[in-house]
Amino acid sequence: MSSSEPPETLSLTSSVLYNTALSSLSLPPQSPPSHPLTPPLSSLPHSKLIPKTRFIVDGFKHSDSNFSVSYFLSHFHSDHYTGLTPQWSKGIIYCSSITARLLHQILKIPQPFIFLLPLSQPVFIDGSEVSLINANHCPGAVQFLFKVPVDSKSKGNDDSEGNNNVIKFEKYLHTGDFRYCHEMKNETMLSEFVGADAVFLDTTYCHPKFLFPSQEESIDHIVGVIQKISGENEGENAKNVLFLVATYVIGKEKILMEISRRCKKKIHVDSRKMSVLSVLGLEESGVFTVDESKTDVHVVGWNVLGETWPYFRPNFLKMKEVMSERGYSKVVGFVPTGWTYEVKRNKFAVRTMDSFEIHLVPYSEHSNYNELREYVKFLKPKRVIPTVGLDVEKIDSKHADTMQKHFAGLVDEMAIKQEFLMGFLRHGAQVVDPKVEKDPVSALDNFPVLEDDGTLCAPNCCNDVEVGSDTGIFISST
Ligand SMILES: [Zn+2]
Repeated sequence: MSSSEPPETLSLTSSVLYNTALSSLSLPPQSPPSHPLTPPLSSLPHSKLIPKTRFIVDGFKHSDSNFSVSYFLSHFHSDHYTGLTPQWSKGIIYCSSITARLLHQILKIPQPFIFLLPLSQPVFIDGSEVSLINANHCPGAVQFLFKVPVDSKSKGNDDSEGNNNVIKFEKYLHTGDFRYCHEMKNETMLSEFVGADAVFLDTTYCHPKFLFPSQEESIDHIVGVIQKISGENEGENAKNVLFLVATYVIGKEKILMEISRRCKKKIHVDSRKMSVLSVLGLEESGVFTVDESKTDVHVVGWNVLGETWPYFRPNFLKMKEVMSERGYSKVVGFVPTGWTYEVKRNKFAVRTMDSFEIHLVPYSEHSNYNELREYVKFLKPKRVIPTVGLDVEKIDSKHADTMQKHFAGLVDEMAIKQEFLMGFLRHGAQVVDPKVEKDPVSALDNFPVLEDDGTLCAPNCCNDVEVGSDTGIFISST
């Protein structure tokens, strides 16, 4: 092959990779998954299974190698990898290269079960085309794009020349956890997924009350506070100020890198955090140190400065302990949290007591409400499937319905109407004009309209039609 030709797309078969992994670990081989594709495992939430495949995304606790040996991990946060242990042997885990390193080095998952996939480069897995794009969440976090071939001989799939073997795809986008940013619209792989069959969406902050500033604005605030307090405490009567930043094991590294760059300070971390940073390739940056005496900016665990859920409760006692242990006379803490009730009242809330102050900074690696709506508006999918929430694991849950209503008017309404119509035909056609059954397409023009608030309204009728939570569909008179 000449160098000018594009590289051939990698084609993988999970069951082959899986048996190779088993044999390299001297484990007995397994025959390929034998369960039928549908119905899937009853315990498996629909938000974790890509339709018409055996692909399970962030669903390791539902693993069953009789159904699937093809698992996808969007990023290295524990609520997404629950079920993974050093004894994992249920299937191949597809993920980004950073996540692959974290899985092996931090979680001790046997290397043969991990298959890293490149960013923005399609790969065929079990016959479907799979691509990874950046999720703007923690390091290594990706969104998965799936192009799934569907039955090409079904009626209506003929091309203009009458061939009935045209390959048709269903397209699914799984965001994992993500923070939308405008650059995502320029991602060439994504343009193909405008009008996708479904978007599995990170709905962590899917409510109008969840509006928070950009990451840049929040970082500016933190840097500004450090610079101001450092400036005030220079000279003779200066207090010896310790700055504490609360973080998880992974995530929010951007804040630390920016504090270091703009305040010209190193960042102290403990050895566990340093081992994670070294997997991320950040140990060599010179930004971080495990020597406490080298800097007055120290990273602490998430709950050291106080509990954040359901509202913030500061832990000044702990701060006092840290202050005297480390030999300082004032402590300024930062809690970069996604959203709290305090943030609703005051964008940058501060709690103070004696020589202590805690800044609650709305810094999120999840999309806020407007960003979620902007992404859905751009993608205009046929439907949105929420992946985060109280009750999203039940397909018809009231909670899932409520979330979907936030995207009414942004999804492909025609597709919704068609599926709504099919629901009508299944659930009792007597309420629909008889001609609908003979000619569903022409009947769509007279079909209920999806309003901004998510209700479906019949234009020539006095009935309001709503998507119900229990029965699927119901009609209520007004
Ligand atoms: Zn996450």
